[in-house]
Amino acid sequence: MKICVCVKQVPDSWAEKKLTAGDSTLDRAAADRVVNELDEYAVEEALRIVEAGEGEVTILSMGPDEAADSVRKAISMGAHAGIHISDPALHGSDALATSLVLAKALEGRGFDLIMFGSESTDARMSVVPAMVSARLGLPQMTFANKVEVSGSNLTIHRVTDYGYDEVQSSLPAVVSVVEKTNEPRYPSFKNIMAAKKAPMETLSLADIGLDAATVGLANAWSEVKDFAERPAKAKGTVITDEGNGAEKIEEFLVTQKFI
Ligand SMILES: Cc1cc2nc3c(=O)[nH]c(=O)nc-3n(C[C@H](O)[C@H](O)[C@H](O)COP(=O)(O)OP(=O)(O)OC[C@H]3O[C@@H](n4cnc5c(N)ncnc54)[C@H](O)[C@@H]3O)c2cc1C
Repeated sequence: MKICVCVKQVPDSWAEKKLTAGDSTLDRAAADRVVNELDEYAVEEALRIVEAGEGEVTILSMGPDEAADSVRKAISMGAHAGIHISDPALHGSDALATSLVLAKALEGRGFDLIMFGSESTDARMSVVPAMVSARLGLPQMTFANKVEVSGSNLTIHRVTDYGYDEVQSSLPAVVSVVEKTNEPRYPSFKNIMAAKKAPMETLSLADIGLDAATVGLANAWSEVKDFAERPAKAKGTVITDEGNGAEKIEEFLVTQKFI
């Protein structure tokens, strides 16, 4: 079983995110960079699948030079190899370009299963897995909270508003998993050391046979026209209890239409 997990490097969820004044893209240097939290569930699920049988897990990421750290971090959970697509022309790429690059990098590598998180915590478009499956002509199995592989068959529980659907497909296929589907493991010291030596391919657009004119900010299908700083938080209302605190709180809740 050959599994590839697509992992995005994102600014830490807790950090205040900033846009670059010049081109309105995310200022990635302004915050600590981490592995997209939701992708850790996909890595964990992939590792459990190969551990229950046999196979290898490869981590794939498209991003600036620093994204290599996130590939190594994901490998240190127990994966076997990494592929990092990095090229200056990729700056400002939209979901269409991201899916094109990932699909091109995946093409012809013979993965049985290609796994994703369900969304990134920075842009949250939740479309890249579906776009990659469409580009590769593979079944798309999205929003999975349970993934089972048996021979060349795949079964997932697909989360819905009313519970879940059991969906089946043949392999190869593309799967995206939802959060809390498992408990992602912490990298062990042994795996951290092994990740330093794990095979890692660093590829440019030319290496995967893509023209720079098909990606990047200039070729994005949508554009951030304008943005403004979030307004400062308004001061809260302090109610001093002078024997009538309860009435004052009630009055406040009524004026705010809470009661
Ligand atoms: C501040 C800001 C400004 C933006 N401006 C624009 C704009 O002007 N025009 C525009 O079209 N788009 C813009 N975007 C969108 C941005 O380009 C998205 O990051 C990109 O479209 C991918 O979508 P996503 O991250 O929401 O992926 P999702 O579809 O939410 O990601 C789902 C999964 O796909 C995988 N994945 C996603 N990206 C990667 C990757 N790079 N490498 C490996 N796996 C990956 C991960 O497994 C992830 O969990 C902007 C985003 C931000 C944060």
